[in-house]
This record gives sequence, structure tokens and C-alpha cells, in this order.
Amino acid sequence: MVERSLSYLDNIKLDSLKGFGEKRYSNLKKSNLSSITDLIRFYPRKHIDRSKIKKINQIDQSDIEKEVTMIGTINNVSVFTTKSRLRITTLSIKDSTGLVKAKWFGPQYIESRFKEGEDVALSGKPEIKKTGSIEFKNPTIEKFADIDELSETGSLIPIYPKVDGVSSGVIRKAIKDALSIIDTHKEEFEPGINDMLPYEVVDKNSIFSRTESFKSIHFPKTIEEFQKARERLALDEFIYLRSIFENLKSEFQNKNKGPKYSFENSLIDTFVTDLPFKLTASQTKAYKEILEDLKNDYPMKRLLQGDVGSGKTVVAAISIYAVINSGYQVVLMAPTEVLAEQHLNSLNAFLKNSDVEINFLTSSVKDRSQVMKNISDGKPGLYIGTHALIQDKVFFSNLGFVIIDEQQRFGVDQRKKLISDSEITPDQLVMTATPIPRTTALSIYGDLEISSINELPPGRKPIVSHLFSGLKKDNEKVFEKCSKHLDDNSQIFVVCPYIEESESSDIQAAEKVFLEYSKKFADYKVVLLHGKMSYEEKENIMRSMQDGSIDILVSTVVIEVGIDIPNASLMIIESAERFGLNQLHQLRGRVGRGEKQSECIFHITNKKSLSTISEEGVKRLEAISTLSDGFKLSEIDLEIRGEGKVTGKNQSGRSDLKIADLRFDYGLLIQSKEIYDDINTLNSSNKVFEEAKLLFPNYFQADGTT
Ligand code: ADP
Ligand code: MG
Repeated sequence: MVERSLSYLDNIKLDSLKGFGEKRYSNLKKSNLSSITDLIRFYPRKHIDRSKIKKINQIDQSDIEKEVTMIGTINNVSVFTTKSRLRITTLSIKDSTGLVKAKWFGPQYIESRFKEGEDVALSGKPEIKKTGSIEFKNPTIEKFADIDELSETGSLIPIYPKVDGVSSGVIRKAIKDALSIIDTHKEEFEPGINDMLPYEVVDKNSIFSRTESFKSIHFPKTIEEFQKARERLALDEFIYLRSIFENLKSEFQNKNKGPKYSFENSLIDTFVTDLPFKLTASQTKAYKEILEDLKNDYPMKRLLQGDVGSGKTVVAAISIYAVINSGYQVVLMAPTEVLAEQHLNSLNAFLKNSDVEINFLTSSVKDRSQVMKNISDGKPGLYIGTHALIQDKVFFSNLGFVIIDEQQRFGVDQRKKLISDSEITPDQLVMTATPIPRTTALSIYGDLEISSINELPPGRKPIVSHLFSGLKKDNEKVFEKCSKHLDDNSQIFVVCPYIEESESSDIQAAEKVFLEYSKKFADYKVVLLHGKMSYEEKENIMRSMQDGSIDILVSTVVIEVGIDIPNASLMIIESAERFGLNQLHQLRGRVGRGEKQSECIFHITNKKSLSTISEEGVKRLEAISTLSDGFKLSEIDLEIRGEGKVTGKNQSGRSDLKIADLRFDYGLLIQSKEIYDDINTLNSSNKVFEEAKLLFPNYFQADGTT
């Protein structure tokens, strides 16, 4: 019996298929399709239901919310560009009973692929105009050399992503052939593809076998059959990733030695009891998890996630205290100077009764010689700073523990810089309030262990959110709110957006807003802060804000992370539709830190109403103004933006999820964990890992990191 594993099939190149000349093969290779394995994993975009194919004169009101398919000949092709530079391509298509129009909006270059006189299949939701004419917007379109070609497929016709230079008919036929190689009852072949999952597991979970899935993903008899196939193949993708992360993790743990610590638990207990407040249950759980992990022989790689204001810093302080007591250096790296300073202040407070020495290093610290000496001497202590800490000249000789705040701003490469060149690999803790989608995905899969703080310290008053348009009436309301808070002796933040194209234009925008507020509140101290100011200037302004001598601080997003000003009770975010969801949430978190009832206003750009901003913008603003939970918002952000890449690499080719979608397949993700544990017990995990290496090679690059 010849084994037909995916790796075996990967060795059968497509030029060995009937009818595959040089030209076709090279076109397919350009789309990363070179073997049978690639081909059967080239999943259809959708299926057209043959029973829903209609003649044009059969399309009526009952079809407008459903998808219909029609087959006809292109009668006319035209391209039109509107004043606002929107490109619209229109095809007229006729069959023996009538004519329809199909329109595509945006740069899709339909006209370069379809010409007058060609036969096509068109599917989408039709619109029926008052005049009775039928129109499709952005429908799926496919060439049909011959309608009879379809008679070979079942009632559901697979539609594939476009491959340049190869018609969909050829793809369909090739996949059919590929599947029949697997399926023929030739003597030398047992039918079917070797399943990586043991039969018990397939049976227990009532999922499709591998052979069934590959057949039915392409040529299902029913939609249910297609769904079962998709479910199995999506599960497989999650199982692969799980296997990759489990293996990488254990490899990392076997290869790397972490620092050895000797702290006493009783010492930590005393430290915790002496803190100025009682920890929340999840803070306690988090610090205990971290300390447990630190005790292992291998280095820790952990994510500490918790909403803005949930109290991550104190958890970091406890672990810092433990590590320094064992004679190591600890680095705490923040993305901005202001934030580094805030950490300096809060950690100074938490650690003031200990003998922990705190060093501070950012690019604007002038006299660095002592800190640099301490670093290279290996002097135990806490080193707080920005990326200045990882410049080439800085060399820690006794580094035990690295804490990185706000992960998304540091690349993996930057993190590595701190960690390499040492026999001992330091423990790593990444703190984040905004698990961005990529991080969410990666951490769900298990590259990092996770500790979560999922509650706020008691007594916090929830921030009241408002969504105001940029129309005159609403602008007045914003000023009214300002007056109310000012009357109450509170301070106000006004944040203006960062405009990507140029730093000077966001400063200009902020200046305009600043003038407006200065005029309106002439009796108050209104100050402007932006990124182009010198460090000293910024620092002075922040100090005045902290000591209460500024009433309204208008700034660009420089205050996004950091500063804790309990007397600030109103946050106004100007042009709020321009911000990302997580950013809005972070900004809002700047208030609500004191006794007073805080409010946050999401204010749309001047003169604009909700109906004039993008659909995504509306979704973001609606989410932020009704929800306060950062993790929920992160999930919604994921939904709105879509989970691009899991690996961050190019989608085409291998190493990415082809069929699983984190937005909808969370249940499958959970199930995949259980299945992985089962196959581990059944000793089948090697087979899975071998396939994972074949199908996700990007995870196994040079240094074996992800
Ligand atoms: P973040 O998680 O956003 O970094 P911080 O660590 O800055 O939050 O904590 C926010 C504020 O809450 C700080 O002033 C901190 O001292 C305070 N805090 C943290 N934990 C508690 C607690 N358990 N009880 C009361 N206040 C706390
Ligand atoms: Mg923080």
C-alpha cells in the first residue's frame, strides 16, 4: 500500500497531471500552487447553487434578498470615474430572455478580464429598479467557456479565487483530477488521504474524515456537507497551530536556561501586605502566576493583560521586587518618555520602603555615565526607560527579567535585542491594555502564557460616554459640558487626532482647536501640547497639569499612554471618527481615576454628522460609546477590521489560515485544544507536527521563532 499523506501528495507536482503544460504550470506556481497538496487545499471562495440559476425573466421581487445566479453573454463593457474619483465598471449581460447590468465599484479592473461576447456566470443579490430593470452591485463573475463543462459538477459549483493565466474551468478540472488520483481504486492505491487524526478522535467528535472533507469542500452535494467539510478543515488548521506553538514552546524551554531566583514567599507576602491598598483578586492571581513561572528553570514568556486602570503596575512591582531580591537586574521598557516617567513615579512609590535601586534611562537623560556603569557592572536594580535602553552600546551583564509595557509598539526584533548574547535568557513579561488582534490571536494559540486582570480596583466610578456630532447644536453641548466640569474645579483633556500624512498637519489641527477653546474659555488656563515640543517643554506642561494649574489641556495624541491625573474628569476626543477603537478606549481611560464622576465625549469632526462618516467609523463610535470593557472592544475591533494574518506574513502560499476565521470560529478553536490534548494522549501528535511543518513553514525560520 502506498501512503497518501499530504507530504506524499506534495511530492506529486502538477505538471504530472493530464493537460498541464509548461505555461499553465508556471502560472499556477506563481499563485503558489505547485503540488497536489497545494491544489486540494486551494479552497473555493464560494459555491453557486445550480438550482438557483435563473433566466433573466425569472428574476423577480422574491429574489432581491437572496442570491441568484444567471448565465449570459457580455453585451457591453464600460468604465466611468466619478468626480470623487470612484471608479465604476459596468457590464451589460444578456441571455435569451433579457438584459441585466452589473456594476463594480473601486479599482477591480473587471474590464481587463472580461470582454464583449464572452459567456459568464454572474451571482449576487439583484436589485430591481422601478423601471423593472435589473442591476447587480459587486457580484461574483466567472467566465464559462461552455455551460456543459458544469454538468460534471454536482448541484453546487465551486468558484475559486482568481489565478492569473488559468481559467476557473481548468482549476475546477484539475482539482477534480487531483481528488480522483486519491480516490481511484487502482490496485496500488488504497482510497483516501491519510488522516492525521486517529479514527477514535474523528468518531468521538463526529467530524468528517479527511478524505470526506477534501472532497466535500470542493464538490459538496449539499450545503450541509460543505459546512461539515469546512468545519473539519478549519479545526485542522487550529490543531496545526496548536501543535506548532506547543512544540516551539517546549523547544524554547529545553534550549534556554532562565535565571535562578531565591526569593522567600514570606518576603513577598510582607511586601504585598504593606502596599497602600488591597489587591483585587485577579491582581493576586496574576502576581502568583508570575512568581510561580519565574521559579521554573526555563525563562518565562508571559503576557499580562488588563484594561486601562486595572492596576498592572503594582503586579509588575511585586515581581520586580522578587527578582531584585535575588540579585538580578530588571529592565522595564516603556514606549514613550512620559510613560517611562510615570512608571518611575509609581514604582518609586511602591518600592520606596525596599532597598531596590531605581535607574532611569531615556534619550533625554543627559548624564548617563552612572546608569551606564551600573548596567555594565551588572549592578542589581530596576532600570526604567525607553528604547534608549536597547541601544547597541547598552549591555546588561546581569539581566534577569525584562518587562515591556504596551507591547504593540515594540517589534519582536527589539525585544530580542535585549535578550540575546547571554547564557541566561531573561524572563519576559509583556504588559498590555489593548490586545491588538494579532496579539490576541498569537496569545490564544499559546506562544505566550497569559495572566489576565479582569476587574478594576473597587470604588471606581464608570466613565459616562457621549457621542456628539460636529453640527452646531452638538458643538454647543460640548462647550456646556466643559463649563460644567470647570465650574466643579475639574481639569479637562482635549485630544486631537494624529493625521498620518504629516506631523505638521496634526499640529495645525490641534492649534485650531486650541484657539477655539482659548477663545471660548478666556478666563481659564488653556494650554497646547504637541509632539514637536522639546522634552523639557512637554514635561513642564505635564507637571502643571499634574499640579492643577492648567484647566484645559489641548494636545495631539502624545498623552495616549501614561499620565495619571485624578482631578481630570472630562476627556474630549476631537474628530473621534479618525481614531482606532483601542486608541479611543485608551484615551478615555485617562480620566476616571479620581473621586469625581468622569465623562468622555467622542466628538465628530466639525460640520460632520454620523451619517457622513464611514461605516466602520460609525461602528467604532457606536461600540466605544456604549461599551466600557476593553476586551470586548478588542473583540469588536477584530470583527470590524477582520483578522488579517495570523502570522503577519503574506496570505498567498503557505503559513496562514486558509479557511479558519478567528472572527467566527472561536468554538472550533476551543474544540481544537481538546482534540490536541486527546491526540497527545493517543501518541499521534508527531504526525500532526510533521504536517504542520510542511504546511506552515514560515513558523520555522532561521532562529525558530514565530
Ligand atoms: P494600568 O493597568 O492601566 O497600568 P495602573 O497600574 O496605572 O493601571 O493603576 C491605575 C491606578 O489604580 C493607579 O493609581 C494604582 O495605584 C491604582 N490601583 C492599582 N491597584 C489598585 C487596587 N487594588 N486598589 C486600589 N487602587 C489600585
Ligand atoms: Mg499602565
